[in-house]
Amino acid sequence: MISYAARTALDLTADLPAPALEDLYRDLHRHPELSMREHRTAAALADRLRKAGYETTEGIGGTGVVGVLRNGNGPTVLLRADMDALPVAEETDLPYASETAGVMHACGHDMHVTWLVGAADALAMGRDTWSGTLLVVGQPAEETGEGAAAMLKDGLYQRFPRPDVLLGQHIAPGPAGLYAHSSGLLMSAATDINILVYGRGGHGSRPETTVDPVVTAAYIVTRLQTIISREIAARESAVLTVGRFEAGTRHNIIPSEARISLNLRTQSEQICERMIASIRRIAAGEAAAAGCPREPEVTVGNTFPVTVNDPETDGRITEVHAEVFGAQSIFNPGPVMGSEDFPNLAEGNLPYSYWFVTGTPAPIWEAAEGEDLMDRLAAVPSNHSPYFAPDLSTVESGVRAIVSAALAYLGY
Ligand code: ZN
Ligand code: ZN
Repeated sequence: MISYAARTALDLTADLPAPALEDLYRDLHRHPELSMREHRTAAALADRLRKAGYETTEGIGGTGVVGVLRNGNGPTVLLRADMDALPVAEETDLPYASETAGVMHACGHDMHVTWLVGAADALAMGRDTWSGTLLVVGQPAEETGEGAAAMLKDGLYQRFPRPDVLLGQHIAPGPAGLYAHSSGLLMSAATDINILVYGRGGHGSRPETTVDPVVTAAYIVTRLQTIISREIAARESAVLTVGRFEAGTRHNIIPSEARISLNLRTQSEQICERMIASIRRIAAGEAAAAGCPREPEVTVGNTFPVTVNDPETDGRITEVHAEVFGAQSIFNPGPVMGSEDFPNLAEGNLPYSYWFVTGTPAPIWEAAEGEDLMDRLAAVPSNHSPYFAPDLSTVESGVRAIVSAALAYLGY
């Protein structure tokens, strides 16, 4: 006995205008735009939402787009697609490869916009099958971690209805047509941290008149490595990488400052906060030991929160996806070290479900070497690769995934 949501989703997506959606996808792929510069992409999305009957507003949080469709009593469901591309030079030989030098939809956000257009259209045309409010969001600047926060700051939930549930999906490597759901922790938090070490500069031949920030910063980098090995329990997963170390201009000048940039990956807010506190303590301690004239400045830069699916919400979506696509199409990827700013939209602990739709074309998947799924996943182009090229069949299946997920909340 198939649920109302699954049956209705199959009905509403039985005759999707696949060629038109594929044309839209190819057009977006040809014209990628970097974070916060998604003007053409946003205009294309807004135009289609308006034509489908959504009250549509542009320019939310920069280039964000919001479409609202009020359709009677019931919950408000937020559907989100990110829109930005990456500074990657495309190396696919696709006839619809990027026409903008050095910029590519290497994370598949062009697919996300296409899915959102297809789902918004199908749900608008089938509005007599459901009741509630749809809040359709085209989000800028996911890659830089700024977009969701910028939309909230611009009054997303004051100017538009506050959602009861948020839904998002991402294209990912894997044999096209699988749906990866995890009912709790799905993705890690990422945190950029900058440390500015103040010394006292001087002549390289007279170190006794200086406080050398290079040596102090080197001690800081070394001692930072003890945070994970000595302060974090073995059962936790975390990464601390110093990606940049900058100081000085010449061989024989002791500079007055040194700069350290590092990135953390963590899987709980508590561990992240504890690591940041440790970094502050170590930086201050090493500076005091060296006799620096001022305490170092430790600042937190771009951050991505952990993505933790609400089990009840994700369970409901997993069930409907199993009905629509077959139980064999669902798998649990477990927590991954990648990051998303989607959870920032869930301000105030709104429940959400976020899942992956796999899109590696069959011939590429079949040619991938490896014994198991994980080996083969590592062998095919992943998100951010200059060869990333999802199969066009995922245009339709992704629309179906969103429509069925929305109907799990809005269906009669
Ligand atoms: Zn990405
Ligand atoms: Zn992405």
